Amino acid sequence: MGTILIIGAGGVSGVVVHKCAQHPEVFERIVLASRTLSKCDAIAAQLVTPIETAQVDADNVPTLVALIRRVQPALVLNVALPYQDLHIMDACLETGVPYLDTANYEPPDTAKFEYRWQWDYHERFREAGLMALLGSGFDPGVTSVFCTYIQKHYLDQIHTIDIIDCNAGDHGYPFATNFNPEINIREVTARGRYWEQGEWRETDPLSVARPFDVPEGIGSLNIYLMYHEELESLARHIPHLKRARFWMSFGESYLKHLEVLQNVGMTRIDAVEFNGQKIIPLQFLKALLPDPASLGPRTVGKTCIGCQISGLKDGAEKTVYIYNICDHQACYREVQSQAISYTTGVPAMIGAKLMMSGLWQGDGVFNVEQLDPDPFMAELNRCGLPWQVIEQAVVDLDS
Ligand code: NDP
Repeated sequence: MGTILIIGAGGVSGVVVHKCAQHPEVFERIVLASRTLSKCDAIAAQLVTPIETAQVDADNVPTLVALIRRVQPALVLNVALPYQDLHIMDACLETGVPYLDTANYEPPDTAKFEYRWQWDYHERFREAGLMALLGSGFDPGVTSVFCTYIQKHYLDQIHTIDIIDCNAGDHGYPFATNFNPEINIREVTARGRYWEQGEWRETDPLSVARPFDVPEGIGSLNIYLMYHEELESLARHIPHLKRARFWMSFGESYLKHLEVLQNVGMTRIDAVEFNGQKIIPLQFLKALLPDPASLGPRTVGKTCIGCQISGLKDGAEKTVYIYNICDHQACYREVQSQAISYTTGVPAMIGAKLMMSGLWQGDGVFNVEQLDPDPFMAELNRCGLPWQVIEQAVVDLDS
């Protein structure tokens, strides 16, 4: 209960703010701060309940500390970019305030994400008696909670996890990304990686694909093996795990554009000289692409994100599939946003709600799968992301 300070005012933030405002019994006061004040004010203007806004550069720790001291929040919720994670964690430690985010730290000059940098904060948070919750979005976030829920209620041991992230939505543009273009393209163009028998195996980017019939008649999509950050934390936290993979659907148009952009060097993240100025091609590309926060009114169709999980139940092999389907237009009607931001923003609000109401507690740095899945799963059903379980395999990904 109390004040929440939300940092970042992009697509995901818009949903977090709307959803927090729907729970005034927990989020008694909402303060939204970001680099561009007008973006905070634009989100605030969408709400019936008044919220406070502020300008902050989250890469400047002293400024952030001053803001946190002024606002006195019960929690800082970070939905800026992964580059800010460590700075915001530093400011939380200095001011004694718990922390939550949805994406793990990435150094701006290397397309590499690892939990190591944030896990290294564990002792400092533990000694300060503070909780930091990492990856409370959909993937990472809900997908990891799905795994621990299945472990708790459907299987005695988990042996394999296949996370399958499908977006059958259409925004009508030949090429656009559904969340921050820079982060999205860095992730998608990375080498594929999955965890098997205690080690990481690599594949060329987007070189392994399978057809997937999305449940509830959504259609058949091609899904591609990729690396995703929750594989690292699941490999560490799920006992008996033998293999963990992540698959994401991409349409023909997205892949064709991405290939051309890569071939001409537009996805590079090193600085190049242009007219006497240094520019980073991927950041320039971001400036040209549609803002993900603007896709809401024009995106139709549904997302389906779930996990196919196999293991042992009462000594016998068993496979289950657990998933959520989310409708882009229904999200837009509720919070003026498309489903990718919605499916990230709702679990971020739920993580914050569980921390602020004391249901999820701990001293140190935690990933969501280290906590009791039941209250989170109940909140998903209540807060707009209902889930289903099918007690059999829905796809053969191995032939
Ligand atoms: P956007 O680019 O739409 O928004 C990012 C916001 O952060 C912008 O308002 C930006 O400010 C602000 N920001 C950037 N740098 C700073 C800074 N130094 N100080 C203060 N504010 C800053 O991104 P999204 O909303 O799409 O994504 C937000 C986060 O959610 C990302 O970390 C992304 O990786 C994560 N995510 C997680 C998912 C999951 O399922 N776990 C799925 C999708 C996204 P400005 O407006 O001035 O640029």
